[in-house]
Amino acid sequence: MINFDNNATTPVDESVLEELIRATRDFSGNTSSGHSLGNAAGKYLLACRQRVAKVLNAADADEIVFTSGGTESDNAAVRGIGWAMKGKGRTGLVTSAIEHRAVLNPCEWLKGHGFGLTVLPVDGNGVVDLAAAKAAINIKTALVSVMTANNEIGTIQPIRELAELAHAAGAVLHSDAVQAVGKMPVDVQALGVDSISLSAHKFYGPKGVGVLYLKKGTPYDCFMLGGTHEGGRRAGTVPLPQIAALTVALELAESKRIKQGEWLRGLRDQLVRELLAKVPGAHVNGDLKQTTLNTASIRFDGIYGGHLLREMDKHGILASAGSACMWEITRPSHVLTALGLSDEEGGGTIRFSLGYANTPEEVTRVADTLAKLVPQLRAQPAAL
Ligand code: PLP
Repeated sequence: MINFDNNATTPVDESVLEELIRATRDFSGNTSSGHSLGNAAGKYLLACRQRVAKVLNAADADEIVFTSGGTESDNAAVRGIGWAMKGKGRTGLVTSAIEHRAVLNPCEWLKGHGFGLTVLPVDGNGVVDLAAAKAAINIKTALVSVMTANNEIGTIQPIRELAELAHAAGAVLHSDAVQAVGKMPVDVQALGVDSISLSAHKFYGPKGVGVLYLKKGTPYDCFMLGGTHEGGRRAGTVPLPQIAALTVALELAESKRIKQGEWLRGLRDQLVRELLAKVPGAHVNGDLKQTTLNTASIRFDGIYGGHLLREMDKHGILASAGSACMWEITRPSHVLTALGLSDEEGGGTIRFSLGYANTPEEVTRVADTLAKLVPQLRAQPAAL
């Protein structure tokens, strides 16, 4: 099996798995319990929080809130910050046309509760229009939420500039950084963000655990009602083993990025080169210079991506047409449409997202296989 679908999820690294098992075995206490078993777990939780804060360059470990993943972190940020800012008389939301549904849907939910929503357009490469952002952000703006890097085409957004625009208007800047970790530096102070979302399963950690970074002083109303866990910002018994595994995965992802990131970019570039050379009518969506180092969105003229993916799967090659959570939807994604692609162009698009387990030999096998499959599909009636 050749797995070129690492933006959907990544396999858990062996050392991360070992930590998951070790922490499950060694820390059976509830981090909130006042007795010695609970205290041991609580102490390890604090150490994990400090280590995560260090990787993200957060000023204080208390700024790290552990959640169940990217979707929860995005919901918590958009709804929690939006709602708190409503209390300050601000009811404007600004987001982008290529956000994940985990951001867009909470924005829509707030819109149904009296907020105004501006969705910023992107250019042909998928980069948010800063002039449109400047025009949209004003003294009524509560929250600007724009992703650090896109999941489908990999485009990296001008977060620092957006944070400056938001802050100049007194608004909060949240960024969904789920697809950024391990692919670009995620330094919260350098980015200038007030809040970011992370998800461990996108960086060789387990599923069901994530991070919400909340800069000290950021207005936030907790939607998850219950106990006072995580400083009152996320109720629910803290899943220490998953958090311990996330911590190791995050440290590993950052060190791999530094040591091997350019190797992975080279592999991605090799794939693009070989596909463009071997498959007539193949085109890159977006600008590879502005994308994360493992992602390439390629469209093939005259085919339907869903058919190609099925044929690729039969040949042991995994990729996707877009976001994994939208797999069952047959129309081109809102991301590809926002880039200005037609239904045919979007429909013929495949997302290739590489990982550290891939090899140059696999890249060549994929390109050679597609060189056969794409013309075969084009020759079939109703290929589109
Ligand atoms: N945000 C982005 C950009 C994503 O790619 C994903 C997952 O596909 C999510 C949020 C949701 O994260 P999770 O799967 O941890 O809920």
